[in-house]
Amino acid sequence: MSSNDQYNKDVRFIEKIDGMLERRLDHTAYIFTFAACLLAHVLYLILFALAGAKIMAVFNIFSVLYYAASFFRINVVKEKLNLVYATIAEIMLHAVFATVCVGLGPNFAMFLLMIIPLAFLVPNKNKNVPFVILFISVPLYGVLNYYCKGGAHVIYDLSGTQLETVFYIINIIIGSAVLIYVAGIFTVMNIYIECKLRVQTEQLRLLASTDPLTKLYNRREMLSRLNSISSSGCVIGIGDIDDFKKVNDTYGHDKGDEVLSTVASLITKSLPEGASAARWGGEEFLFLIPGCGIEEGKKIADGVIDAIRANKFKSGNTEFTVTMTIGICRGSSEDNVYDVINTADSRLYKGKHNGKAHTEYE
Ligand code: GH3
Ligand code: MG
Ligand code: MG
Repeated sequence: MSSNDQYNKDVRFIEKIDGMLERRLDHTAYIFTFAACLLAHVLYLILFALAGAKIMAVFNIFSVLYYAASFFRINVVKEKLNLVYATIAEIMLHAVFATVCVGLGPNFAMFLLMIIPLAFLVPNKNKNVPFVILFISVPLYGVLNYYCKGGAHVIYDLSGTQLETVFYIINIIIGSAVLIYVAGIFTVMNIYIECKLRVQTEQLRLLASTDPLTKLYNRREMLSRLNSISSSGCVIGIGDIDDFKKVNDTYGHDKGDEVLSTVASLITKSLPEGASAARWGGEEFLFLIPGCGIEEGKKIADGVIDAIRANKFKSGNTEFTVTMTIGICRGSSEDNVYDVINTADSRLYKGKHNGKAHTEYE
């Protein structure tokens, strides 16, 4: 994939995610989460009632009320993060109480570990909070496993019953769903950040390497591209708009800017494929034609001059044209590129003294 294809693909992905966020997908995520928790706890309530585990049935009545309130009141809650923390606390308490009530068999203790990635996923304002949750949850998990080992201290013994299996299967399904959900969001977030970084780097690179007015390479970028001449040699040309000061003085600076931008695109259009052009200074342009001899270079430079001369600019009812003088020099792989530039530059100034509007190549 070319870097341009990658860039367009990245931009499309970023727009898609930004669009989802604009459509308040985060709000939908909260609604979905509370609806899922509500359903799960209604189910737990029924199962605990069936198991005769009164303490847990009562606990789940409160849980159901809490999730129902969160689900229906989510729009009015300003600080949704607090609701997330309350939910995490509910899950932790539920895991502890359920384990003490019905033992390790149904695997409620697992939720003490499952909520850890969730705590890291939510947009924590204080980055220490998920670590605090981790440092509470993991030791609790350890203590519970030790405390209830072999059915010790269990209030309602479900071991070997069908209900224990039902609880176990439901908990594994819910636990896996939480992990898949969190892992999915983490993955998308990571891809989003990678794309954003690539796009911003590319935009910065472009910003740093091009001239904003003419959209050509700037001098710095051209110098870094020029640092060596390939074995097939090249022609370097430097063109300078003739009497440009008069254009500014007669038609204004803005018209001068328009002329610069048009001249830049005329240069680009007149150069052969593989050539590159840069804004070298105020109204000075440098172009590089790889694998080219001086004769061919002169023809190309003359083509640039003709294209510029033929272009009519308008200022109010007045039409005007501009001309350009170009100095060119051929370089081979043994030549120092700066010497080639300097020779092209001195030929340009020779051209200015020899009547302007032509190519100087000797
Ligand atoms: P010559 O034929 O000898 O090149 O004469 P000239 O008037 O083109 O050269 P001179 O160096 O005297 O003037 C160049 C002018 O280019 C002066 C400067 O204000 C103008 N210029 C440089 N950069 C910009 C620009 O970005 N926008 C505009 N509008 N003018 C610019
Ligand atoms: Mg000039
Ligand atoms: Mg100049």
